[in-house]
Amino acid sequence: MRIADLHQTLAQLGALPVHQGRITRAWLNGKALDTGTRHQKAENFLPLRVREGLPAIATQLEQLASISERHPGADGSARLLVKLHDGQLVESVLLPRDGLCVSTQVGCAVGCVFCMTGKSGLIRQVGSAEIVAQVALARRERSVKKVVFMGMGEPAHNLDNVLEAINLLGTEGGIGHKNLVFSTVGDPRVFERLPQQAVKPALALSLHTTDAALRAQLLPRAPAYDPAELMALGEEYARATGYPIQYQYTLLAGINDSQAEIDRLLELFKGKYAVLNLIPYNSLPDDDYQRPSGERIVQIVRYLHSRGVLTKVRNSAGQDVDGGCGQLRARADKPERI
Ligand code: SF4
Repeated sequence: MRIADLHQTLAQLGALPVHQGRITRAWLNGKALDTGTRHQKAENFLPLRVREGLPAIATQLEQLASISERHPGADGSARLLVKLHDGQLVESVLLPRDGLCVSTQVGCAVGCVFCMTGKSGLIRQVGSAEIVAQVALARRERSVKKVVFMGMGEPAHNLDNVLEAINLLGTEGGIGHKNLVFSTVGDPRVFERLPQQAVKPALALSLHTTDAALRAQLLPRAPAYDPAELMALGEEYARATGYPIQYQYTLLAGINDSQAEIDRLLELFKGKYAVLNLIPYNSLPDDDYQRPSGERIVQIVRYLHSRGVLTKVRNSAGQDVDGGCGQLRARADKPERI
């Protein structure tokens, strides 16, 4: 179901925009749709046909998604395994400070070499109503004031659904536009469409290296942007919206943590309205890629920070639970033997 379908169903029942807004806000706030008689009162009025149609709509919305597992982390986050109406599983993560990370696709076609989700390829798109349902479910657990589109999937590959969800969350959902964060490996359609939106989200770009050839190896099916070109496009959007671009950089020992890389980062970030999020890879001893030592991470951060690059170290939320994005789903697909 798309959000447009929900609005169309309501309009066919005779709901005016004011009625649609009231119903949508109740859903977005994680409340069960009230189908009782209070809608006959003037302040809550809904036309009779809408009232009669609401139980079926409420059932449809309830069936969109449900939480099948909760995995609280020590850092105040919690990974949620969310079952969609057809049994497909995606992950949402409740982040500290009222944030929520949502999934936009089941699987992903980009195939980043360090990502569990990328290993499955794309299985299906997540509809706009299913994206919003992840927020509605999370709001039953706790308050959500920021939504990042950084879970499973590449939002640019499901652009219409993601933009529809962003538009609703930034209006009826009551979320500030800069607290909606569209995360992408970089796609020409993103740079065309985002500036045209009424609700313009903040932008996070996956950089991961300053070297175009290495980037093509790490993100095999991402558009072949040279990192400098990608950052130039990001800068244009940052200046147009007034929000800095967040550059995501997964730190991989011996791959993209050399001093030469860090010096090139310094060059690229000069004068940019940007934040660099360093995400040390969350590795297991036998993994192909490893996390740099704590000492090296501190060195890199101090080096960049002291030279004017706003650098933050971000650990994958809830990583003490089950590692990175997609690992809960992978485990649910292949239950461990006891
Ligand atoms: Fe897709 Fe993101 Fe994983 Fe890359 S890191 S494969 S874009 S989900």
